[in-house]
Amino acid sequence: MERTRRWGASFLNSKQFDSIYKMDIRVLKVVEETTVDGPGFRNSVYCAGCLHACPGCHNPQSWSMNGGEPYTVDELAGQLLADPFADVTFTGGDPLYQAEAFGELARRIKAESTKTIWVYTGFLWEELVNEEKYANLLKHIDVLVDGPFVAARRNENLHFRGSDNQRIIDVPASLRKGEVVLSGYHSPHTF
Ligand code: SF4
Repeated sequence: MERTRRWGASFLNSKQFDSIYKMDIRVLKVVEETTVDGPGFRNSVYCAGCLHACPGCHNPQSWSMNGGEPYTVDELAGQLLADPFADVTFTGGDPLYQAEAFGELARRIKAESTKTIWVYTGFLWEELVNEEKYANLLKHIDVLVDGPFVAARRNENLHFRGSDNQRIIDVPASLRKGEVVLSGYHSPHTF
């Protein structure tokens, strides 16, 4: 007997589940016009799903890969692009577990606006940069805040990151140079 998995109110076979999971993004919430997930006013997509399990994580309710509700890339693009002012952040959870759909969302936003895109992940840049499945997302974003939250290195004076092992990376410059280039936002004294 074929196994099924619950998706909202439905039960789907594994092929249907995989297809939807890749196309859609499981979202916990979209926080509008926040100022804590990057510079200026931003609409932040908080996705479900994270396997890093950082001790001291501020958002453990985001860990379940089946949490939140599925949104299509189209729905999210429409909502984010409808705001003429705010830039965009993908966070969670860890958006890199849904890199294919977030890559398509980032491509749409860049094609149809001048918005900047910040992404938060518990992975390190070096774990992502040579993997094909992350390439489309990295190609369409401006900044990656990388690395797990490390409670022993927590620093409340830092802007836009929780612990000082995390790096605020200028993604286009890093891809051009072939090594990590820190954003000006990495140092609180440069902005
Ligand atoms: S990567 Fe972020 S969401 Fe995931 S466990 Fe670590 S702090 Fe929590």
